[in-house]
Amino acid sequence: MKTEDLKSNGDEDVLAKTNRDQNNSESRKREIIRYGISAAPGIVIGTAFVVDSQVLRVPRTRVSQDRAEAEIVRFQEALDITRGELLQIKSDLADQLGDDHAKIFDAHMLILDDVMVKESTESLIRAESYNAAWALDIVISKIVTSLGNIGDEYLKDRSADILDVKQRVLRKLLGIESEHRQNPTEPSIIVAHELSPSETAQLDRRYVLGYATDLGGRTSHTAIMARSQGVPAVVGLEDTRPLIETGDTVVLDGNCGTIVINPLDGTRETYEKEIEHWRQFEEQLLTLTGYPAETLDHRKIELMANIDLPEEVASALDYGAEGVGLFRTEYFFIAQDQLPTEEEQYRVYRTLVEKMKGKPVTIRVLDIGGDKIAGYLHNSPELNPFMGWRGIRFLLTRKDIFKTQLRAIYRASAHGPVRMMFPLIVGVDEVVQAKKICEEIKHELTLARYKIDPDVEIGIMIETPSAVVLANALAKEVDFFSIGTNDLIQYTMAVDRGNTKISHLYQHLHPSIIRFLKMTADSARKNGVPAAICGEMCVDPMSAVVLVGLGLEEFSCSPNLIPEVKKTIRSVTFDECKTLVKKILKLSTTDKIEKRVWTFLKERCPDLSMFAEGKQHGK
Ligand code: PEP
Ligand code: MG
Repeated sequence: MKTEDLKSNGDEDVLAKTNRDQNNSESRKREIIRYGISAAPGIVIGTAFVVDSQVLRVPRTRVSQDRAEAEIVRFQEALDITRGELLQIKSDLADQLGDDHAKIFDAHMLILDDVMVKESTESLIRAESYNAAWALDIVISKIVTSLGNIGDEYLKDRSADILDVKQRVLRKLLGIESEHRQNPTEPSIIVAHELSPSETAQLDRRYVLGYATDLGGRTSHTAIMARSQGVPAVVGLEDTRPLIETGDTVVLDGNCGTIVINPLDGTRETYEKEIEHWRQFEEQLLTLTGYPAETLDHRKIELMANIDLPEEVASALDYGAEGVGLFRTEYFFIAQDQLPTEEEQYRVYRTLVEKMKGKPVTIRVLDIGGDKIAGYLHNSPELNPFMGWRGIRFLLTRKDIFKTQLRAIYRASAHGPVRMMFPLIVGVDEVVQAKKICEEIKHELTLARYKIDPDVEIGIMIETPSAVVLANALAKEVDFFSIGTNDLIQYTMAVDRGNTKISHLYQHLHPSIIRFLKMTADSARKNGVPAAICGEMCVDPMSAVVLVGLGLEEFSCSPNLIPEVKKTIRSVTFDECKTLVKKILKLSTTDKIEKRVWTFLKERCPDLSMFAEGKQHGK
């Protein structure tokens, strides 16, 4: 459903009002529409299953002095049982989703084995004769309060892990064994204020239709898991959870980041049509898998996959990706509690390269920082993390981490075609420095008789205004460009890409963005360097036709969106897209540009225009 349809006159409940008249039924619950962040695509209508982190009432009692040691033994037994339970969840998760996801539980195990937690609880039992549950509650509350005061995003996540572990141990101590395990018994939309990794992992996947959470962004664990599981998700719904009860009917639109609670008949019917339309459209798109991404006048565009986890390779191949255009190495680092070793990284990159069976794999070196934080690397919060110690800046000051990763990437290059790219470049000197380190690593590996590909192509992400302005000079230093519009738009328009309050200002087709893209494409062409795009922008059909017209040669996007992008490319000619670009370059506002592109797209490909508008405005 198009966001604009729901938002007419900026009034969230206009649709509800119209439908209320139609339904005329007092007994029905009120329809409520809420907007969040689209975290995984797809639309589903289903029954809500609310997962609440159960608030346990912890009794404050005293045990007699002679019972204190027995209470401590009871506490230790509770820790042991919880450890066994967590190991079981970890192993189940490894079977279902792979080792990388299962590593999330390493943090839980560390908390459980933390000497301070154990000793402080035991000494409270001994000194104050508190019951074990009360003593543990005091100790954990103090830790969580002190983490909260630091105000760091990563540490906030760790607080969630600590509370998760506390709940588990408390349940054992209070005899609320495994509570009513919060698991749906029929296909449901999982609704929560926040889902801890262990809660997400314990849900029976057969019954999960989608996720809706108040907290979280596109990079939260829930979002990443939803994408791996292929179910729609909307996160960042703010204070929506209290509006939903288990059993309520919910429409979850992961394409637009919208949910509708208790949809009235008219809304439901509209969405049912939308789902059917989407299903037919997807079915039709899948028939394109074996065909090239080629315009009607035979301009070939390489269609590649963006992947965050190696497990996504299978779907990349299923959807017909011609390679990996962006492998974000950050998630692998974030999922661990310490730096992955060269061997661990080598295994991941090598597996990825082998699974792609000769198709190129573009590995982006660690783009940690911004909203992608690993606690073991960032111990002091930054005021402006997106403008801070991020991407190549981080790596050039932590050369130890950079070199280890480069060694692993070069070693993986012996097993298939690998390309490498550097994120958040703002100037030529960064590229020169990074390339020099690459040369050193190649030399070291060759001396040590490792087999490597010495000609691994080196590219850069064009995702800052500075890189655009310097594109001509940068092109002389590299083998390819990959335009990261997710960041390029945020830095050009000064719009935080994750801030829902200003998401209307995040505009793909803003005249400044089109001009920047043209400058980049022209510099690349002039210097004989191929230009790719790996930002989400390329999946929006309205933007895709413009990108074709600008002469970009490779598009890279989430695997499941590849067929749609292919359909767009196959519906137009290169010539008419070039003409369209010439026309929109003369226009000075987003509105005028969108209208012109919209008219073009509706005429060439009415099916795609149906989806373009929703994507265009949803973020
Ligand atoms: C981008 O910025 O467009 C990009 C692809 O990188 P990321 O989304 O990982 O920042
Ligand atoms: Mg980026």
